[in-house]
Amino acid sequence: MTPIALMGIGKIAVDQHVPAIAASPDWDLAATISRNGSVPGVEAFTDIEAMLDARPDIPVVSLCLPPVPRFAHAMRALRAGRHVMLEKPPGATLAECHALEATARERDLTLHATWHSRHADMVPAAKAWLAHRTLRRLHVTWKEDVRRWHPGQAWIWEPGGMGVFDPGINALSIVTEIVADPIHVTSAVLEVPEGRQTPIAADVAFHHPTAAVTAVFDWRHEGDQTWRIEAETDDGTLTLDDGGARMAVDGTAAAGEADALAGEYPRLYARLADLVAAKAVDMDLRPMTLVADAMTLGRRVAVAPFED
Ligand code: NAP
Repeated sequence: MTPIALMGIGKIAVDQHVPAIAASPDWDLAATISRNGSVPGVEAFTDIEAMLDARPDIPVVSLCLPPVPRFAHAMRALRAGRHVMLEKPPGATLAECHALEATARERDLTLHATWHSRHADMVPAAKAWLAHRTLRRLHVTWKEDVRRWHPGQAWIWEPGGMGVFDPGINALSIVTEIVADPIHVTSAVLEVPEGRQTPIAADVAFHHPTAAVTAVFDWRHEGDQTWRIEAETDDGTLTLDDGGARMAVDGTAAAGEADALAGEYPRLYARLADLVAAKAVDMDLRPMTLVADAMTLGRRVAVAPFED
């Protein structure tokens, strides 16, 4: 097993990365870097430079920080000759993602920009089903309760935190994976709570060669949470639900696993092992480009203040 270091021991590290690494045949969690968090039995650092100096035997660093502070740490790790895995979104800006990619390629290192939702159970089946059909309409409905999923996370409301696009980019990572033709943003309306910097809801329209493609993202949704993509084609309608975990064609459900999201992070770490073995870069920035363009083109509408 190859030693790996994990930086940013917060919600997603504890919920997904630590268990996925523990269950992996490829990786041994050898160090953490976090100002407040740690993992029992694992050497803990509070500073990445200290870890890089003390542990030259660790060739890979996985970064679970929010996007804004991530670039500086990713660059330090690459410059120290380490392979790097990035949580989504891969950075705060596209330019810094390009800079990381150039550095990784110059040094023959792996850079893995992860999109965990692409590894939900039914995404490959949806891609295969759509591949031979002409898309007529695609609509994303991503409605969840921010208080439930991001309690106390101030960074999501700050510049670079993306607001509702933090989960919304997961939908866009699936759409860009399963739809063969490229799409781009043509218009957007961004609802921004007074006193906040990022949208709590967004409506986005996209150009596609044959289909009307639209998305609605909303963080004020209590009760049943909705992570749905509907795709109408010339030969039937596909529905992906629960963030890619369940699929139906013309209302008939495809067989799937009971806990169909459980495989996402194990698959990301298996892919990391393949990429590191090949010293390959996987840096697909299409989902982030769509969000950046929605933020550039979007009409801002002020809505009621949001309190955590
Ligand atoms: P989080 O718990 O708020 O933050 C993760 C950790 O990053 C924190 O515990 C903190 O650790 C460190 N950190 C935060 N701000 C920092 C700063 N300015 N400088 C250095 N370290 C900082 O966030 P999260 O929910 O785990 O999300 C992290 C990333 O994972 C985001 O990009 C998010 O989109 C993605 N993600 C989240 C989820 C989810 O359900 N939450 C799901 C999938 C992906 P220390 O204070 O201990 O250093």
